[in-house]
This record gives sequence, structure tokens and C-alpha cells, in this order.
Amino acid sequence: MSLLLGCIADDFTGGTDLASTLSAEGMRTVQSIGVPEAPIADADAVVIALKSRTAPADAAVAESLAALRWLRAQGCRQYFFKYCSTFDSTPAGNIGPVAEALLAELGADFTIACPAYPENGRTVYRGHLFVGDQLLSESGMKDHPLTPMTDANLLRVLQPQTRLRVGLVAHDTVAGGPAAIAAACRQAAAAGTGIAIVDAISAADLRAIGSACAGMPLVTGGSGVALGLPDNFRRSGELSATRDTASFPDTGGKAAVIAGSCSTATRAQVAHWLRSRPGFRIDVQRLLEGADISGEALAWAAAQDGQAVLIYATAAPGEIRAVQAAAGTQAVGTRIEQTLADIALGLVKAGTRRLVVAGGETSGAVVKRLGIRALRIGPAIDPGVPWTCSIDAQALALALKSGNFGSGDFFEKALSRLP
Ligand code: ADP
Repeated sequence: MSLLLGCIADDFTGGTDLASTLSAEGMRTVQSIGVPEAPIADADAVVIALKSRTAPADAAVAESLAALRWLRAQGCRQYFFKYCSTFDSTPAGNIGPVAEALLAELGADFTIACPAYPENGRTVYRGHLFVGDQLLSESGMKDHPLTPMTDANLLRVLQPQTRLRVGLVAHDTVAGGPAAIAAACRQAAAAGTGIAIVDAISAADLRAIGSACAGMPLVTGGSGVALGLPDNFRRSGELSATRDTASFPDTGGKAAVIAGSCSTATRAQVAHWLRSRPGFRIDVQRLLEGADISGEALAWAAAQDGQAVLIYATAAPGEIRAVQAAAGTQAVGTRIEQTLADIALGLVKAGTRRLVVAGGETSGAVVKRLGIRALRIGPAIDPGVPWTCSIDAQALALALKSGNFGSGDFFEKALSRLP
């Protein structure tokens, strides 16, 4: 049977989050790191994870189109563009430019944009995105190192990013259920709207929206809105009702946590870990001065008697702003990501086979350095964060966590969940 849902994610952990959602809804799901080089067997959905969130807009568009072309060649029935549930983007993109290009390639003229993920506290009401009880612009996202979000009105955020007209399907309509939502989408499209932000404040809203999107060539959003898509394929008889219960392999080996996220949740998780377990802090100042920080971190890890270790660059907003002002935002970010990736490779070479990584960009850099091409999705640790297993001769267990995901004890919990 050919693939049903072809997904393109703008970063790695976002891709994992989506893959986990689809897997929990009964789709056999594989996440591919970049465009696959060969067909993927035994899967209903493939999530192609790119690293396009903060790339220049034209590069993000080109990568996304390459992914779409591969997925179309596999005969997917529907396509999904996944971005962060905090709508991470800048006025230059990349949500708007990529959605616009994917629509054009598919010969379609309308899609929805719904980042809501109520299970993780992200809700959209009257086009405004909330993180828990706060507007997006008042949440920790206002201090994000790469994509600070200073406006919670998604119509205002998205419109400058695209030539398509941005509209709204408000909660009054969403509460009316799938038929009302589908009718509102048809009306919006007929009136010239190219992308409609769709309100959602509950999982029931997301399922109704998913249901209304049956047959829509392209759906865009956070992984929440993908909740309702597998059932469409079940209703059409294309997806079997049985669920894949393959057990997760025991990879053995040492365990490590690498944190390159400075998001609020990660800061709390790092602090929680350090209360009782060993950690190595990346000294960014010394790194920028040319010190061999990865060598120091690996020597430190080797001296920990096989205990699970944490290596982190995680810092508070004031500290981040100071180094960014001195050395440039992108330059600092990339330098730290590459250092953490070097450290991950060193740890794996020294026998680590269970690895937790915190941070979307950081995970992307780590997975790339490890040469991992595809991951089969395993059991969830927290909403949106599953254990995954590399499809390699020597399996590596990887938990790739988007910065703001997971409970305070996420790192310890993740390691305790493995065989
Ligand atoms: P998140 O998922 O929380 O957004 P990411 O890994 O995607 O995390 O992004 C965090 C960015 O911040 C990365 O580019 C990382 O290298 C950078 N970073 C991490 N620690 C620091 C620090 N101490 N100072 C400046 N930038 C940092």
C-alpha cells in the first residue's frame, strides 16, 4: 500500500512531535531526516524533517518543495506542513513563503493554518495564540534566541509573510463541527482567502478541524491539527484499524542528555537534573574565544563512571543577549549547535546508546552529525515527545525534545522509560 500522509516539518523535534501524534493515532510512522534517498517500507505516514525554520526564505522554500516532490512521487493522498505550535517565524518567513509555495506546487488555492495544541497549552482564539494563560507575546517566546514572537495576533504575524490573503475561521464556526468548518473554508476560499487561521481551544476542536480537512490537498499547522487526519483515512478504508505494537528495542549502552535549548521548560529541566545528577555547562564565552570545549566536555563525561550525564548550553535570557550582542545571534547559535553536535558524536563513539536532546535546532544539528537518516517512532514520554530508534545497523535510542516541551523531570523520566 502506498503512503497516505506526506508531511514536511520545518525542524526536527517538530517533526518528531507530529510523527508521535500520527503514531498514537494508529499510523505506522517513520521520520526521515531530510528528503529520503530510498522508498520507505511499512509506513502509512512519512514525516520529512527539514531544518528550514530559520533558514533564508528562498532556501526554506526550495527544501520544502524538494520534500513535497519526493512525497508526491510516493503517491501520498494528502500533504501536511508542520511548524511549531508557537508559530515560530519572522516577518521574512518561513511559514508564509513555504505554505504559499507548497500550495502552488500542488495546484491548490487554499489551506488552513492552525498551530493550536491544547494538550501542551497552545490554544488559538479569535486568531490570537495563547501559551497557557498568556498571550504568545507575553510568554517565554518573546525572548527566543532566533525567532522572538512579539505579537500574538496570527493574522498580523502571517500576512506580511505571504502574498496570499490571510483570513480567520473563528471559534463560533469551529464549535459548529466539521460540516460548519468545511463550509467556512469553502466560503473563505471562494472569497479570495488563501490561508485561513483556524481557532481551536480543545482536542475536540482539533479533531473537528481534522475531519473538515478530509480531501484538502495541503493542511498546515502544529501537530495538534494532525490528530483528526488519520481517522479520515480510516473512514475511507485506506488505513487499517489495527495498530502497530512492535516493541522498542533494548539498545543498552550509556545514557546522556544534551541541552541546547534556552526555553523556559528546558531551563527548569536542567535545574531539576542538576539538583541530583552530574552536569557540564558549556562556557559560551570561552567557546567563542576558541577553547576546546567539546574536548573538555568529553573528558569530563568519561570521568563520570558510566553515570547518565547532562551537557548543556542552556542559559538565562540576560546571559544570552550579552553574548549575542558581542558575537551575533546566528553565529553564536550555530557555534553552540555545532559544539553540542561534536560532543554527541564523541559520546556515541564512547558507548552512549541512549541520548536525550533538548532543543529543535540543537536536535537537528546532533542528528545530522550522527549521520542518522530515519527514525521509527516508539512510545511517548510526554505529549509530543516519543522515544525513537534509528533505522541503522547499530540502533541508537533518541529522544528529541522541542525546547518548551516536557515536564520538569523530563530528562530523568525519559531515561527511566527505556528497557
Ligand atoms: P528551542 O527548541 O528551545 O527553540 P533550539 O535548539 O531550537 O531550542 O534553539 C536554541 C538556540 O539557542 C540554538 O541555536 C542554541 O545554539 C542557542 N543557544 C543555546 N545556548 C545559548 C547561550 N547560552 N547563549 C546564546 N545562544 C544559545
